[in-house]
Amino acid sequence: MDINTVIADLEAIVGPQHVLRSRAERAVYGYDASVFRGTELLAVVLPTTAEQISRLVVWCRDHGVPYVARGTGTGISGGAIPTHGGVVIELALMNQVLEVDLANRLAVVQPGVVNQDLKRSVQQHGYAYTYVPDPGSQVVSTIGGNVATNAGGMHCLKYGITGNHILGLEMVLPDGDIVTVGGKAVDQPGADLTGLLVGSEGTLGIVTKIIVRLLQMPEAVTTHLALFKTVDDAANTVSGIISSGLLPAAMELLDKSIMQAVDKAVHIGFPAEAGAALIIELDGFSDDMARNADRVAEVCKTHDVISFETEEGIEAGQRLWLSRRAAFGAMARLDTDVYIVDGCVPRTQLPEALRRVTAIAERYDLPIVNVAHAGDGNLHPSIPFSKRRAGDIERVLEAGREILEACVELGGSITGEHGVGMEKQNEMTLMFTPTELQVMRRIKLAHDPDDLCNPKKIFPLSMLAEAAS
Ligand SMILES: Cc1cc2nc3c(=O)[nH]c(=O)nc-3n(C[C@H](O)[C@H](O)[C@H](O)COP(=O)(O)OP(=O)(O)OC[C@H]3O[C@@H](n4cnc5c(N)ncnc54)[C@H](O)[C@@H]3O)c2cc1C
Repeated sequence: MDINTVIADLEAIVGPQHVLRSRAERAVYGYDASVFRGTELLAVVLPTTAEQISRLVVWCRDHGVPYVARGTGTGISGGAIPTHGGVVIELALMNQVLEVDLANRLAVVQPGVVNQDLKRSVQQHGYAYTYVPDPGSQVVSTIGGNVATNAGGMHCLKYGITGNHILGLEMVLPDGDIVTVGGKAVDQPGADLTGLLVGSEGTLGIVTKIIVRLLQMPEAVTTHLALFKTVDDAANTVSGIISSGLLPAAMELLDKSIMQAVDKAVHIGFPAEAGAALIIELDGFSDDMARNADRVAEVCKTHDVISFETEEGIEAGQRLWLSRRAAFGAMARLDTDVYIVDGCVPRTQLPEALRRVTAIAERYDLPIVNVAHAGDGNLHPSIPFSKRRAGDIERVLEAGREILEACVELGGSITGEHGVGMEKQNEMTLMFTPTELQVMRRIKLAHDPDDLCNPKKIFPLSMLAEAAS
């Protein structure tokens, strides 16, 4: 296909100012926040309406061109990376909060709205309600990307992941049809298509409008920083708190190596004997807060806590949250690259999972630092490495695979929140039988018979090769 004809066709749909074609611009879109890189693409288009997206996918179908939707490219599994060339459909210009309806506790947004901007927009209507899901990337990732990956976050322990907050979607299907699933009313007849599409990683269509649920802000919040000698003590405390009958809003764990990195970056001053930290946030009615904080402190004591600090209110709590929020930035000091593994186990298996992570790190002679959405049993062992050192990336990916194998052996999952993308296609066989994978594949091909919509992601490469032969 002549590239000038391609560009002319795309410009006719979205306007010349909304097509990026220079080599440098296209190169940027070959990456996301993962360690992977895509193939050369034809162009990047920035549509402003669902109708334009519909025309774009019909053009792609008619010309056999693959395409991939993109939010802000903060994904860590390569989901938004074009693996087969084609067109990137960047949703950044569809960034309007269309409606905030406090009486019905919902908002309607375009997919390119940044998570934190939605929260701010809701708060402009008064502080009673908020949109809860808060991935660590909330200052930059989009609601469309959050929906497509079914993103988790710090407060998902108590309030659930993105999918629990989505009431309905407008989507452009791969045949160009614009459909609405779910809606503003509480109960929708028929199969739960919203549930099917949330987390489908842009492989079943492109989300163009999202109805989100708003929840009441808690009356009171306290934040606690508990330091322990060992990771085992911290991890056992997590299960201890929940089995005592308390459900904190968040429980995040840091191990000694990431605490040291964070300390160098933001100077927290952790004592030398601290081997793990838990950040625990409680929320609820003011009258209950002191009693619940005492109960948490009691559980921490039974696991030999070294120190226990408390801050009251969201603003004051930020001091204690700093070590967690600075964690990913601090990793940048450890080497030129970092591979962030995303696995999940039942929370009672967290101590064993983290022991296995340490053993794997030792066997591969790799430095691994650990942060975890501990309340959810969601581990992020992170491996600093350098793509410039020969053999590093292969060793790192191999260690990552072993960590995921361990998670599955312990009754968990190969992903807690980042999705499968191109990173964990082959690890899908650790969790699903060939028949189960075929069921998923049939759903994909029923929506997208030409396999052009974010193609060749999620499914094991061996399965895709077999189907192609
Ligand atoms: C520092 C840091 C912290 C992070 N913390 C968390 C965390 O706590 N929890 C968590 O879950 N993730 C986290 N992430 C990962 C990432 O931010 C999330 O996966 C996020 O949801 C991706 O949003 P995005 O807008 O960047 O999407 P992108 O990376 O652009 O795309 C992600 C996927 O969504 C698809 N997609 C995007 N928009 C659409 C659309 N409109 N329609 C259909 N498909 C679409 C893409 O094709 C791709 O498959 C973190 C990332 C970083 C860098």
